[in-house]
Amino acid sequence: MRIAASFQSLKPVLSYELFPPKSEAAVLGLYEHVHQLMVFRPSFITCTYGAGGSTRNKTMEVITEVRRRFDVTVASHLTLVGSTIDDLRHYLTEAKEAGIDGIVALRGDPPKDSPQFRMTPGGFQYANQLVELLTREYPQFSVLVAGYPERHREAPSLEVDLDNLKRKVDAGSDVIVTQLFFDNQDFFRFRDQCWARGIRVPIVPGILPPQSAEQLNRLGQLCGAKMPAELLRRMNDQTDPEGQANVGVEFATQQVGELIAADVPGLHFYVLNQSRATKQVLTELGFEQHDVGLAS
Ligand SMILES: Cc1cc2nc3c(=O)[nH]c(=O)nc-3n(C[C@H](O)[C@H](O)[C@H](O)COP(=O)(O)OP(=O)(O)OC[C@H]3O[C@@H](n4cnc5c(N)ncnc54)[C@H](O)[C@@H]3O)c2cc1C
Repeated sequence: MRIAASFQSLKPVLSYELFPPKSEAAVLGLYEHVHQLMVFRPSFITCTYGAGGSTRNKTMEVITEVRRRFDVTVASHLTLVGSTIDDLRHYLTEAKEAGIDGIVALRGDPPKDSPQFRMTPGGFQYANQLVELLTREYPQFSVLVAGYPERHREAPSLEVDLDNLKRKVDAGSDVIVTQLFFDNQDFFRFRDQCWARGIRVPIVPGILPPQSAEQLNRLGQLCGAKMPAELLRRMNDQTDPEGQANVGVEFATQQVGELIAADVPGLHFYVLNQSRATKQVLTELGFEQHDVGLAS
């Protein structure tokens, strides 16, 4: 339960989210970027789990290798897509044996060609059921779940979505990590509403330092986050990619600074397997840097 415990002693708890790279060359590049980011001594690192369990083995490989190389606490994302309950148990047992500390318990998105999530026969329908399984059968894991400051796209209202989030917390989640957002007011409102519903676990904002106008537009469509018009305008005013990236770093630095001032328990960076932007933001904000042994 090292992840849950870190929120009792540190503030803000720093974490990074990776995804499994497609090629072997990209895997090696990823470890170099993680090495760059380790100077800030993150409390934990997570790795996503792809659609339909397509990255199942890669997720496990990346997360165990990150743990081995950097001696850092790690969590694996796990979704319900394409898995029976026995498949989920199989993965969790493997994760336990590999020494993984936490599970980010998710329903998952439907595959690209299918508009709706369909429960796998013999599987689960909602993430709260996976949390129940974890609490009952795998109590050694810290359990993290997803929260949506701007509402999950399928939920009829933020209220209904919050009731469903509460189910995940009541089932035993230790930490909520949010979907990325660009307007801190959405996060503050969400945090207040969680509190009003009796949710007392740490609510960690998910941060993405945007790198280009094209990326912002793509992510907006993918995860439904509202696009800040002013940020888009400033990015589009730039004539080169470097200029756009700098605008993104400046924006994220201000956003994170405001979140820290508002006493958030942690910061979860969607680093997108790169180190530069996150490193610049943390440096600008005065996060201490430490020596890290060379990754091998
Ligand atoms: C931090 C974070 C990490 C992510 N990592 C991944 C990843 O690695 N791989 C991946 O494929 N996707 C990932 N996602 C995306 C996520 O899988 C999708 O947003 C998915 O559509 C919902 O997952 P969930 O776990 O929030 O689902 P749930 O909590 O099950 O919610 C799904 C929908 O059902 C509703 N609902 C929930 N419980 C109930 C209930 N008991 N009865 C009725 N309605 C209910 C909710 O309001 C919501 O609209 C991540 C998202 C976040 C925020």
